[in-house]
Amino acid sequence: MNTLLWLRTDLRAHDNPALAAAAETGAVTALFLAAPGQWRQHGDAPAKVDFWLRNLRALSREFAGLGIPLKLLTVRDWSAAPDALAGFCKTHGIRHVHANAEWAINERRRDTAVAASLGAMGVGWTLHHGASLLRPGTVLTGKGDCYRVYSPYARACRERLRTAPPRAAPAPRPQPKPAWQADPLPAAFEGYRPADDAVRALWPAGEAAASERLAAFAEGAIDAYREERDFPSLPATSCLSPYLAAGVLSPGQALRAALAASHGEIDGGKAGAAAWINELLWREFYQHLLAAHPSLSMHRPMKPETAAVSWRDAPQDLDAWRHGRTGIPIVDAAMRQLLALGWMHNRLRMVAAMFLSKNLLIDWREGEAWFMSQLVDGDLASNNGGWQWSASTGADAAPYFRVFNPLSQSRRFDPDGAFLREWLPELAHLDKRAIHDPSPMERAAAGYPPPMVDLAQSRLRALQAFGGLPRP
Ligand code: FAD
Repeated sequence: MNTLLWLRTDLRAHDNPALAAAAETGAVTALFLAAPGQWRQHGDAPAKVDFWLRNLRALSREFAGLGIPLKLLTVRDWSAAPDALAGFCKTHGIRHVHANAEWAINERRRDTAVAASLGAMGVGWTLHHGASLLRPGTVLTGKGDCYRVYSPYARACRERLRTAPPRAAPAPRPQPKPAWQADPLPAAFEGYRPADDAVRALWPAGEAAASERLAAFAEGAIDAYREERDFPSLPATSCLSPYLAAGVLSPGQALRAALAASHGEIDGGKAGAAAWINELLWREFYQHLLAAHPSLSMHRPMKPETAAVSWRDAPQDLDAWRHGRTGIPIVDAAMRQLLALGWMHNRLRMVAAMFLSKNLLIDWREGEAWFMSQLVDGDLASNNGGWQWSASTGADAAPYFRVFNPLSQSRRFDPDGAFLREWLPELAHLDKRAIHDPSPMERAAAGYPPPMVDLAQSRLRALQAFGGLPRP
């Protein structure tokens, strides 16, 4: 039987449940459906789309060695997916389509429509679960609801993973020579420019690059991860998020590497590995929330009462934040890191997001969209989750009166100013005390702007805006 692997954000040959199932029952062809119009509607970053394309190239080579041709179809948006898939199956005599589930609402609607159109022509359709450690909808409270708070959720996950860690899906065996050739891949998808060389060098494509990075982290930095992960000038985190987001690396592969580094213990072994597994579980948490609450895909806050916050309409302030010109060094350094690398350190994502949503009182959805338009690891579930956590509109127990002071964060997590010096060359000559909050004279001499808000007053303004909301 001819089977089809429909690739999405699971760009890998290893530990890919949809691929394993497709290979078990037939001769596999792989298909990637490009939808540049849809990606633009989602505000996906050019660096991310370029990363997908580069990984497709690597995967096409890997698949060639397995006798699996990788085909490419381009549609405007997901509304064209049912006809495109149906036509492809007809032309290539495909009898069954396998794919890994995606949880955002447009992708779920797409899959429902595709399943109906394939069903009408007698082609089978199976969705697998390759994007998370535990299947969304299976980690539930005693009342049968999806957890809204991370800590009990993570406890329940650890319990499940301790007794039944996910096993790797078997790698496909090489197939006889396929009936058709792989498609050539374009230099760039329509309307998207290729990423620049520096960004490409930072995020090399392919499963081999991902597993090398994972192995290096699991044999090295993971040991000090708990103590060092909040310090943005240190190479303390894995930088694996783009690979996990594009599915070049599976969450199971990441978990197994952490367990191997920790003598198989999910929380009782090495503290660094346990802390890292916690972060994998944050990723998991947000995916499960996205699956349980379609409203999250529709720009709605988890806490409905926060829909009534009177956000400021301040395009100039928003622009200054986007481009790293707020006059708050740690925020500006973070935003410039994002613009240059397509990635930002986690501590700084929280600082920058709180500054926008609390101190500037600008709608968190503006920040969420800006991050998405820049991030090579942009992922609806994690980005939305991180923004709603920071803006106190989210599911988790982040109270609205928790407002990070960016200057204290800067002094605490970049005590020598090394990160600030790297991203704000105009301030690099200042000493480690002055650099976090230069004096008016130092700013003027360096051509660095004054702070755009008074931190204490803007914090009070946010507390008033949130404190005045009706109680749920
Ligand atoms: P590590 O510290 O090595 O962590 C390992 C992996 O765990 C990461 O690669 C990531 O997959 C996952 N992870 C770590 N922290 C978190 C977290 N807080 N929430 C969810 N998953 C986590 N992550 C994304 O992958 N895509 C996004 O679009 C995204 N947007 C964010 C927006 C905001 C406002 C915030 C506060 C966080 C966001 N995160 C996002 C989470 C986190 O910042 C990144 O995953 C992390 O910085 C990636 O670096 P790393 O791979 O070195 O992480």
